[in-house]
Amino acid sequence: MTTTSEPVMQVWIGCLHCYNSGQLVGEWFNAIDADEVTLADVHRGSGGSRGGCEELWCLDVDDMPVHREMSPAEAAAWGRVVEEVDEHLRPALLAWVRSGDYVADGTGDLPSVPDFEERFAGHWDDFDEYAHQLAEDSGLLRDVAEEVARYFDWEAWTRDLAFDYSVEAAVDGGVYIFRSL
Ligand SMILES: [Zn+2]
Repeated sequence: MTTTSEPVMQVWIGCLHCYNSGQLVGEWFNAIDADEVTLADVHRGSGGSRGGCEELWCLDVDDMPVHREMSPAEAAAWGRVVEEVDEHLRPALLAWVRSGDYVADGTGDLPSVPDFEERFAGHWDDFDEYAHQLAEDSGLLRDVAEEVARYFDWEAWTRDLAFDYSVEAAVDGGVYIFRSL
């Protein structure tokens, strides 16, 4: 399995006062740094902030699993939650969020990392591969005579099993599989 690193999540942080006055004043920043960005950082290219400039807002986002405006504090929280998991698991975490079928932490949109770790069942070529491995690991047909096992209905079994999982396309091919519980 090759690992493709997920592009760094970025946010375009703008000055709300300037924006409301019809001027786009802002810059792209890494999401994880968003809550440390100052008015001066944002106005550097526009000759400095003016009276009324006060509030910063992420007016655009890039490579984030949710695509909407948000506060710099929320953008930084997204950056931090993604860093909480090992680098090779980050694309799976983001795919889990994109699927919409994920467990949020509290009342916001941020994913719960412990739930992710509990539910992530790995990266596979496809669901069939996972199902066969699961059957082998759990000894599904261990005590069954071979003549009987040969007639086991894999297709029906795999189809039923799939109800308990969600399957998301992986960035580098294959799928990520999550237990729905
Ligand atoms: Zn401004």
